[in-house]
Amino acid sequence: MRNFQKLLIASIAITCCASASAQFDFIKNLGNGIGKHAEAAKNLIEQTKEIDEPQEIALGQEFAATLLGAKPLWNDAGAQRYVNNLGRWLTLQTERPDLPWTFGVLDDDGFNAFATPGGNIFVTRGLLARMHNESELVGVLSHEIAHVLRKHYLAALKTKGFLGFGADLIVNNYAKGNLAEYKEMALKAAKEVYSKGLDKSDEYEADRIAVVIAARAGYDPYGLPAVLQTLQSKSSQDSNFSLLFETHPSPNDRIDSLDKAMRSRFGSGNWIAGKTIEERLKEFSR
Ligand SMILES: [Zn+2]
Repeated sequence: MRNFQKLLIASIAITCCASASAQFDFIKNLGNGIGKHAEAAKNLIEQTKEIDEPQEIALGQEFAATLLGAKPLWNDAGAQRYVNNLGRWLTLQTERPDLPWTFGVLDDDGFNAFATPGGNIFVTRGLLARMHNESELVGVLSHEIAHVLRKHYLAALKTKGFLGFGADLIVNNYAKGNLAEYKEMALKAAKEVYSKGLDKSDEYEADRIAVVIAARAGYDPYGLPAVLQTLQSKSSQDSNFSLLFETHPSPNDRIDSLDKAMRSRFGSGNWIAGKTIEERLKEFSR
């Protein structure tokens, strides 16, 4: 705990004060369990079954604790700071810039990325190592940001019902003071949702939104398609990629879906037909 506190404190050193305090709350709550966001949730949840933003953030902290319980943060303050700064710039381009966005690199060789409700985003060290340029990382981070923006994790808990309870029931437990039950249900829900994945249509939507966020942030919007092209060449049997393949539509299907969406937004062309960013650059610099 102390190590990643140091890491995250280092990573927030150059962000603004409001952001820093929000990030610190996140870390504090990982240790303490329920924080001030959950306190706000307690007062509001009695009145409504819907999950409001404080509740969403509180539940996200439980999900983040579950992820960090499985894989710690990578002990590289520079990498943590870099991903945090990049991620925060991207979130400024979105309709929810004031969430307590926090980015982290998990110490894991596999290729994966995760988000929690409320704005915690994690990528693995193995994913970072396999990026060819910053635009690709922007594509991946923006995809995860989109899941948070559109509350895809809450939707999965509501609609799938695989555990026999939804997110509203989880936070309702907190409102009733059943803290042990609240944490137990949140843990089960997090494990289930991260192993089974989100609705496929939500994955396609996250891809489409990611491209727009990247473009707004001044990055090459073809970064995400380039990552998907890389994934096309990977085997689902490769243990570094197996969880990603299990929890997402195939890279082929994602590229097809993006191709349709991007033609109307970015102009037509055969950019997606196996071309790399480098090839495209050559095409335009002849
Ligand atoms: Zn996704």
